[in-house]
Amino acid sequence: MYNSSTGATSSLSASRLYIYEVIGLSNARRSGSTFMTVPYARMSQEMQRIARLGGRILSIRPASDAPAPTVLASQNSAPAAPAAKKHADVPVNIYRPNAPLTGKCVSNDTLLSEGAIGKVQHIKFDIGGSDLTYVEGQSIGIIPPGQDAKGKPNKLRLYSIASTRHGDDVDDKSVSLCVRQLEYKNEQGEMIYGTCSTFLCDLKPGDEVQISGPTGKEMLLPEENDTNVIMFATGTGIAPFRAYLWRMFKDNERDANPDYRFSGKAWLIFGVATTPNILYKQELEEIKSKYPDNFQVDYAISREQKNAEGGKMYIQDRVAEHADGLWAMIQNEKTHVYICGLKGMEGGIDAALTVAAEKSGVTWSEYRSQLKRAGRWHVETY
Ligand SMILES: Cc1cc2nc3c(=O)[nH]c(=O)nc-3n(C[C@H](O)[C@H](O)[C@H](O)COP(=O)(O)OP(=O)(O)OC[C@H]3O[C@@H](n4cnc5c(N)ncnc54)[C@H](O)[C@@H]3O)c2cc1C
Repeated sequence: MYNSSTGATSSLSASRLYIYEVIGLSNARRSGSTFMTVPYARMSQEMQRIARLGGRILSIRPASDAPAPTVLASQNSAPAAPAAKKHADVPVNIYRPNAPLTGKCVSNDTLLSEGAIGKVQHIKFDIGGSDLTYVEGQSIGIIPPGQDAKGKPNKLRLYSIASTRHGDDVDDKSVSLCVRQLEYKNEQGEMIYGTCSTFLCDLKPGDEVQISGPTGKEMLLPEENDTNVIMFATGTGIAPFRAYLWRMFKDNERDANPDYRFSGKAWLIFGVATTPNILYKQELEEIKSKYPDNFQVDYAISREQKNAEGGKMYIQDRVAEHADGLWAMIQNEKTHVYICGLKGMEGGIDAALTVAAEKSGVTWSEYRSQLKRAGRWHVETY
């Protein structure tokens, strides 16, 4: 447990320490509240640890504050939200893995600029004449050819769809993906490339691909025109958000959605390693310049930008910078929050929003649970 008297925290200023009041810890020596002093940088890990120990956070306040009255969880109600729509009419599993659709690669283009790290491709497949339909926020399965290490046919991998339901050419005949080639060194120091991501990134126009799906209802956009949409993405986590932004802004330029005219605010916070790694940068910048009142984009470029402490700028640092504005927006019942990309990015986002919510006397972890129940908090990480 962290305590302000330990050496581990002594170098941090008191303003970066927070007092957690927690009940129900399985390792607590006595009943009632336990008070813990937690450095800002450890907040998300500590929240996860408390949850693992069966504890419940009653309040969080800056250590520098005079003792504040405990804010009871029951007082921290997220404003009543409209019941989440069930999206009953959204298609799923039109093509099953054992009877997939054979699609054709139409194009396979790099999404990176010179000097970028790795390989990330925008790949478009022809699905014209098939029964495959989908909506923004869904995924498809790709079944790579060949066998796995056990000699069994390769299993499908899921990929978030990066195009709108109308496809990149707005003709309802294609589906697009944003794929990063997985590469890592094994214990022997050999470079290993992922099976399916390599297959996809190496496709040539005309090559055939086995497609299943669509799947998923977690990341669907609200149907109303006047909602606000906050998007947190890292790397290829941008894929569903590209689909949202095309639906909100670009498809309407072709009059593709007469009954959907986005009038709210869309705010994207996008974490990447370097500037040449900003996927779809030109499209994002174009939407920003055309629709400045409805779209905001902020980048966290970890290897180039510095956070407030002089360290690398990760997505959670950019979120912390904008936490008050984000928190104000999240409290609006018409706001939905979406997180997509690297597993583990939620912890930092939670830590930043914990601090912002706490200024209003609200326990973020509980508020977030209510957002989830109201269908306004959407996470897809992998
Ligand atoms: C809902 C969902 C949506 C997704 N959307 C996208 C998307 O839009 N774009 C995208 O590119 N991917 C996406 N993915 C990930 C995608 O499904 C695949 O997991 C990814 O492409 C890797 O598959 P592969 O066949 O290339 O790798 P595989 O050959 O299956 O290798 C993966 C395995 O390699 C091992 N491994 C990986 N990294 C390391 C490491 N650093 N050290 C040691 N071992 C390691 C692990 O055992 C891992 O299971 C998504 C996943 C999900 C669940």
